Amino acid sequence: NIAIPEEVVEIISTLNENGYEGYIVGGCVRDLLMDRTPQDWDLTTSAKPEDVKKLFKKTYDTGIAHGTVTVILNNKHFEITTYRIEGIYEDHRRPKEVTFTNDLEEDLSRRDFTMNAIAYHPKEGFIDPTGGIEDIKRKSIRCVGNPHKRFEEDALRMLRGIRFSSQLDFTIEENTLEAIKTNAHLIAYISAERIKEELDKILLASYTNKFMLLHETRILKFILPEVDKCFTVEQNHPHHVDNVGIHTLKALEAVDKILTLRWTMLLHDIGKPEHKTTDEKGINHFRGHVEKSVELAEKIMLRLRFDKKSMNHILKLIKWHDSRIKEDKQSVKEVLYHIGEEAFLDLLKVQAADAIAQNPAYYQGKEDKLKNLYKMYEEIKAKNECFTLKDLAVNGQDLIKTGIKEGKQIGEILEYLLKLVIENPELNEKETLLSRVKEKYSL
Ligand code: ATP
Ligand code: MG
Repeated sequence: NIAIPEEVVEIISTLNENGYEGYIVGGCVRDLLMDRTPQDWDLTTSAKPEDVKKLFKKTYDTGIAHGTVTVILNNKHFEITTYRIEGIYEDHRRPKEVTFTNDLEEDLSRRDFTMNAIAYHPKEGFIDPTGGIEDIKRKSIRCVGNPHKRFEEDALRMLRGIRFSSQLDFTIEENTLEAIKTNAHLIAYISAERIKEELDKILLASYTNKFMLLHETRILKFILPEVDKCFTVEQNHPHHVDNVGIHTLKALEAVDKILTLRWTMLLHDIGKPEHKTTDEKGINHFRGHVEKSVELAEKIMLRLRFDKKSMNHILKLIKWHDSRIKEDKQSVKEVLYHIGEEAFLDLLKVQAADAIAQNPAYYQGKEDKLKNLYKMYEEIKAKNECFTLKDLAVNGQDLIKTGIKEGKQIGEILEYLLKLVIENPELNEKETLLSRVKEKYSL
């Protein structure tokens, strides 16, 4: 029932009128069959890239070596890829070379899953030689051809399969799942960037419970061993009902669908396996786990080539995730000063998600506390109360004018004044603060 854009119809007509075949293919066909609106429309054609470029006015090369040209029509971009067969695979990742073919079925058979190997033509309908339509109806993810061979060729496909499962709520077909378990170790051949890209998609997917597949297939052991270990660590503590791994997944599901928040929840307790002690009553404790979690999280994020800004934000949230902010405005302002407004607001979300995922019996109390902290923050903002050096009524220049020498002392005095103002907001006036300085430093 979803309309195919007129530009797509036009591209296919142009190809056909010039003696070439043309179909939409891949994710957009899968989406059409599931009544979802595709994000982009990919096409496949018997025309060679040079021919595609001759047929359309505005084009640019996207992956010319792999046969992909992008056509621009009405300011919209469409990727057109020539039918191709992939050559010998090297190192379980990319084909050494690709060769073009005139046979649509050959192109479809190189694709990863049957649900992704369906072509559609506005007049001819669906071309589905591998039974993809049936699999979509069954909500089943099945490799095209022999799954062992397909994962051996390109190990990323295993991670893609789990990613699709968590986006679409599909089950991975038995033989395909077995083959992932057998070949899990090959994921080590895939670059950090491509692994992160798939993990990001899994973390933002609608069915994060499918993350468990990463653990069950042992893929997780090879890409995030630190997280994998958490599934074997029982907490045996009244505040918790699950092992660290399950708690982590519940926390992940409870937080907003924002990448930095999702990664924070995934990594917030990874120090626990190395910091477990059991007391005489059999209760487990994890003293010092926060510092360890920060340390391991940094290692992981460097390994996965996170951008610096996201990494630092996540590390800050992990470092503070277990902190108990006192329920008074002064303490709230001190935390705001230490970590900044953005991190403070995210911290409240992180602590709420963590609390939901611990023992539900304790959640109500924590939720009330976090709501109260947020109310205090709103009040501070509404009254414009100062909690940063920037908002202090006095700056370094003002101090220098009163005769204080430039240097370290200026910074110390400003910190002292800020502390004073955080405690007594009414003192944040230039004259008042300067006279305090003169008094204290007998100027
Ligand atoms: P998404 O909605 O995430 O874009 P998609 O199915 O369109 O999903 P893409 O990564 O855009 O996925 O790839 C487009 C198509 O190319 C896939 O549907 C599949 O047919 C094929 N494909 C992509 N990656 C692989 C791979 N590693 N091995 C085999 N075929 C692949
Ligand atoms: Mg796509």
